[in-house]
Amino acid sequence: MSLEFSHIAHAYGATPALNDVSFTAPLGEITCLLGASGCGKSTLLGLAAGLLSIQSGRIALGGETLAEPGLNPPPEKRPVGLVFQDGALFPHMSIAKNIAFGLPKARRMDDAGEIETWLARVGLGGLGDRYPHELSGGQQQRAALARAMAPEPAILLMDEPFASVDIVLRRALRRECRILLRERQTTTVLVTHDPDEALDIADRIAVMEAGRIVQFGTPQELYNAPLAPSVGAIFGGAQIVRATFKDGAYESVFGRWAADCVLGDPPEENTALDILVQARALRLDRDREGLAVRDVHPLGARARVLLRHPSGAELTAEVPQSAGDHIRPGALYRVKPDPASVRAFAVRDV
Ligand code: ADP
Repeated sequence: MSLEFSHIAHAYGATPALNDVSFTAPLGEITCLLGASGCGKSTLLGLAAGLLSIQSGRIALGGETLAEPGLNPPPEKRPVGLVFQDGALFPHMSIAKNIAFGLPKARRMDDAGEIETWLARVGLGGLGDRYPHELSGGQQQRAALARAMAPEPAILLMDEPFASVDIVLRRALRRECRILLRERQTTTVLVTHDPDEALDIADRIAVMEAGRIVQFGTPQELYNAPLAPSVGAIFGGAQIVRATFKDGAYESVFGRWAADCVLGDPPEENTALDILVQARALRLDRDREGLAVRDVHPLGARARVLLRHPSGAELTAEVPQSAGDHIRPGALYRVKPDPASVRAFAVRDV
C-alpha cells in the first residue's frame, strides 16, 4: 500500500509546524524525510502513526482514508510499525519476547527459529534471552528494528532509527534494513537529518524546510534538477555562492563566471542569486589575481583544495589527484566552473 499525504497543515498552539504538505510514499519503497532539526519531519511521522491528531488535510493508505479531521485511529489500530530513535523496548521482557510480541499469536509460539533469524539479521544472534538493560544502546536499537520489522507491517515509520547505533555498524545495518524492507515490499517512511543517510537508503527523498516540502524525488532527480540550493546542498561537495548577475556574467567574491557556466536562462541584470556549485565542477588555473590555496588534502582519486578570498570567504574545489599533487598552499588560482554544471537560484526568504 502507498501512504499518501494530502495538504497536511499542523500547528502547536500558535507555532506552525507544517504547511500544506502533499506527497505519496510509494508502495514498497523507502521514502526519506530529510531536513534540519525543527523543519517538521517528526510531526509528519507522528500524524501518520496516530501519535498526533490530524488538524487539516488527509492521510490515506492505498487510497483509503487513514486519518483526517474527526478521524484519528490510535496507533494500535493502524497497520503501521514504528521505530523511534530510542527503541523503546519493553523493559520487563527478554529481547526474544520483545520481538515475538508484535507477531501474530500463531507465529509467536512455534517460531523460535524465526525470532533467532531476526536476531541474527540485526547482529544480535544468541542474545535473545537478554533483557534490554543488559544490552548497549545501539544493541537495544537493533532489537527495536527487529521488533518493528518481524511482523512485516504494510507500512513502517522510522524516526532517526540508526542515530544511536555506532558509526561502524550503522552503515551495514542500514544496508541490511534496506534489503529486508525491499524484499518484503514494505512501504517505509524514514526521518533523518543526515543527507548521507538519505542517499544511502532512500528510493525517494522529500527535502523539507520550515514546514514545507521543497522538493520530492529520487536522489537522481534531486541531483540532476534541484529546485532550490538547499536541495543541491544535500550532495557532498555542493556549495552555495552569493552572486550578482552583471554585464552578462555572474559576479561574486570568487570572480566573474561567464553566463554559459551556469545552467538556465541568464537572469535580468543586477539580480542577486544563489549559485549552487559542486566542488568537482570547479577548475583551477594559476592567476596572480586569484584566490589563495589554504589547504590541499588527498581523497584518493581526487584532491580537495580549499581556497580563500582576502575577505575570508572560502570555496572548495575537488581536482584529480594528479593535478592536486602540483598545487601548493599559498599559490594563487582563478576558479572557474565547468560550463553548464552550475545552477543559479533567485534569492528567496524561507
Ligand atoms: P523535526 O522532526 O524536523 O526536528 P518537529 O516536527 O519535531 O521537527 O518540529 C517542527 C516544529 O514544531 C518545530 O518548530 C518545533 O519546535 C515545533 N514542535 C514540535 N513539537 C512540539 C510540541 N510538542 N510543542 C510545541 N512545539 C513543537
